[in-house]
Parts: sequence; C-alpha cells; structure tokens
Amino acid sequence: MDNSTANTNVSRVARINPNMVAPQMSPTSTENQNKTAEVQKPQTVKSPYERSGVDATVSGKRNDESSITGGAYQPVLITEVCDLPSKGLLYSSLGPTLELRAMTTIEERMRLSGENFWSTMTAILNRCKVGTDYDMSNLTDFDFFAALVKLRIISYGNNYKTQAKCLKCGKEQIINVNLDEVRCSTLEDDFVEPFEIGPLPMSGDVLTCRFLRLYDHISISNEVNSWLKKHPNDTMNNPEYTLTMEKMLVTVNGIKLNDMQKRHYVENMIGADSTMFHDKIDNMFYGIHRLGTCKCEEKDCGATVLYQIAPSDSFFRATPLNN
Ligand SMILES: [Zn+2]
Repeated sequence: MDNSTANTNVSRVARINPNMVAPQMSPTSTENQNKTAEVQKPQTVKSPYERSGVDATVSGKRNDESSITGGAYQPVLITEVCDLPSKGLLYSSLGPTLELRAMTTIEERMRLSGENFWSTMTAILNRCKVGTDYDMSNLTDFDFFAALVKLRIISYGNNYKTQAKCLKCGKEQIINVNLDEVRCSTLEDDFVEPFEIGPLPMSGDVLTCRFLRLYDHISISNEVNSWLKKHPNDTMNNPEYTLTMEKMLVTVNGIKLNDMQKRHYVENMIGADSTMFHDKIDNMFYGIHRLGTCKCEEKDCGATVLYQIAPSDSFFRATPLNN
C-alpha cells in the first residue's frame, strides 16, 4: 500500500457568495437612486496579498468583487475543497471532502485569544466549514491537520516559511514550503474502525482501537490542565500519555470496557505490550507528512536538513516576499 504520493493540491470549485445580490435599497428619491448607482459600480478588489506585497498564491475559487448588500459590506469569499485523508470513511455524514472558506479577522481574533489550541481551532473550523452541519470535533487529528493546512492556504497563501538547523554544520536556515505540494497519505478504501492490535507479546490480549478525535484532544487537554493545577510540582505522573491510550482503546479480547476499566488496563499493561501498542499506532500514519527534508544551504556541507510543518502561531501568517 503506497498512498503517500497523493498530495493536497485538491480540486477547487468556485463558489458564488450567496450574499452577492443587488443592493436592496428602495430608490425613493433621485438622491437615493444616485447612491444606489454608486454602490453598484463594479469594484476591482485586489487580494490582500497583492495589496501587501505578499507572495501568496490564492488559487481557490472566489467571487471577484466585494459588494454592499442591504447596507452591509460583503467581503470577497474564498472557498476551497479539502480532500480528507480519511476519505470520510470514519464519519457518519461527511463525504470525502470538506469545503472551507478563508478565515477572517473574527476567526483570527478567536485564534489569538483562545486558551486551548484544540477547542479554539475546532470552533474556527466549525465557523469556516461550508455546506455541512457536521460537527468538526468528530474529525480525526489527521483530517484536522489537513483541514488546518487548507485553511492556512486559503487564508494566508500556500507559502509557509519555517526554520531548521543543520545537525552537521549547525547552520540555521529558512525553508520555504509550498503547502499545496506537501505529501499526504490517505486511508485504504476498505479500512474499518475500530482496528485490531495484537495478540500482544506478553499477555496475548487482542485489542481493538480507534483514532483520536478532536473531542478526545479537547478532553485530554482539559484533564491534563486541571491535573497540572492540582499537582504543580509533580513531574513524574502527568496523565497525558495514558489518557491518550485510554481514549484509543475500545475492546480487550472482544469485551467493551468502560472508562475506569480502560484506565486500569492501560496503566497496568506490561512494558512490551505497551511498546507494541505504540509501535502499531505509530505505523498507522495517515494525513499530511509534517516532516520534510532539504539540502543544507551551506556550501560544501551537503547534509540533509529536517524541518517540520507545525500549526504554531507563525503558521497562520502570510509570508512576506524577500524573506
Ligand atoms: Zn549543513
């Protein structure tokens, strides 16, 4: 199985802003008629990237003009379709693609003021999804990251700048990544969840597991935060590691466990069983390949430099030219 050559350069469909209708003002006087004529004048709207001299190719579908509808300014609407790495196979009512609109200042404000990365970005995705009521907190983390990359491309352009250090010569370098060309692995068409892990080497147990969802990450980060408040000096027992395993575990030897039983089982797994669990999970990689490599830019070095695509603060920023 090699699905790793698919990329995120997905089909793009133009979408008409549903609010782009003629102004609703009723021309009761000549003055009003003149005003109406004025606002109806076609406006040439430069993309924010053209205006700011930013190298950002926004190739998605968009209406070409902003408009004024019923007195309210209607900005240019850019939407694109994101191919989900899961192909939608894991969801009750979501197809293989997700249409998203660009983030606006309101979502940027949410992002900057949000305290929990997972819940904030879930709320933003729920605002930016187009044409579906499906709750984005049900997305797996790998579909979530693909959606974030798409949101970044349509909101800030596809040029992502990141930093990396050559481990051979120590040279710090700036790497420009075209987010439209990052590699992405997709789920096999016959993939079924929950999936099986085992028999485990020590206990012989056979587990069934599922992928983490955004609601799991939100729950885990809330639990970890409240634990950290209660145990500010305990550096040994942070529950994040086992919470993650608990959330993924569905059955043991065909028996469905409740939350308490899962916790007990996970915390008491023998080392080799736990290692096999993690190895299997790590090998089931789907979605966008976050790690990339390039040649060191230092003359005569020639080493391979590893860089990472991470949804940090600088991820949701346009990349200026000449940098
Ligand atoms: Zn080097």
